[in-house]
Amino acid sequence: MRIGIDLGGTKIEGIAIAADGREVVRRRIAAPRGDYRQTLDAVTGLVLDIEREAGTQGSVGIGIPGTISPATGLVKNANSTWLIGQPLGDDLPRLLARPVRFANDANCFALSEATDGAATGASTVFGVIVGTGCGGGVVVGGRILVGANAIAGEWGHNPLPGPRDGESPGPPCYCGRRGCIEQFLSGPALARDYRDAGGGDLSAAEIAASAAAGDTLADRALTRYEERLARALGSIINVIDPDVIVLGGGVSNIDRLYDRVPRCWSSYVFSDRVATRLVRAKHGDASGVRGAAWLWESEERHAQ
Ligand SMILES: [Zn+2]
Repeated sequence: MRIGIDLGGTKIEGIAIAADGREVVRRRIAAPRGDYRQTLDAVTGLVLDIEREAGTQGSVGIGIPGTISPATGLVKNANSTWLIGQPLGDDLPRLLARPVRFANDANCFALSEATDGAATGASTVFGVIVGTGCGGGVVVGGRILVGANAIAGEWGHNPLPGPRDGESPGPPCYCGRRGCIEQFLSGPALARDYRDAGGGDLSAAEIAASAAAGDTLADRALTRYEERLARALGSIINVIDPDVIVLGGGVSNIDRLYDRVPRCWSSYVFSDRVATRLVRAKHGDASGVRGAAWLWESEERHAQ
């Protein structure tokens, strides 16, 4: 049995899956915000609860915001700031009395979709979460590409390529720079763009519904969004040339992206044809926790 834990900022989700991907147990608890010790207790308790319910022990994989620094062994880049600088990679294996695998949550998303989701069988997969932020992860040959700094796939804090009038220097970002991709392509960024253009206070989903109902401002905001997403993904295609790009997160539910973005991105890709497919995540919000569960499977398959 494979246990996956998705350590989010507001909730902690746990799942146990069988070898065929079938869900055996699923639990969700509120995250103890702001408290590292309580976070350790919550994760440990969740794993033991899942094992009690399933009646057996399992391997444990954990998806975390940010990553564990290869240099220091401490958590970095986490938007759940109370985890930053903590030795999570030492504490949880000790408390659970077993080895534990960790991966960034967007990497878990990409692994889940590459293992038995929308990109099953593809050799190179770029998984993107466009929600409150813009995470990303790369899976090659069924394995997460971690990278020397453990940041592979983190495209959200690159500058938006080829900025147009009004896009440079761009909105300030919490990372300290301006004009980051995340400041144009997250759900809140789409909402802000629509508002700044004279629209109302709508969410990304509401903007899509308004555009479909004939709201010109909403249609223009979405068109700008699609063209920016095409530029941002075009530069990814030029670097890793993925077979499939999988979108997850709230914005990924907008149907028209899958038709329009690939029509735009050929202008930015250094190739006469673009074979890369843009698809929606199969497992939706469950992808993070499923990918965490697959962390052991993925490594063991490749060790053989
Ligand atoms: Zn940034």
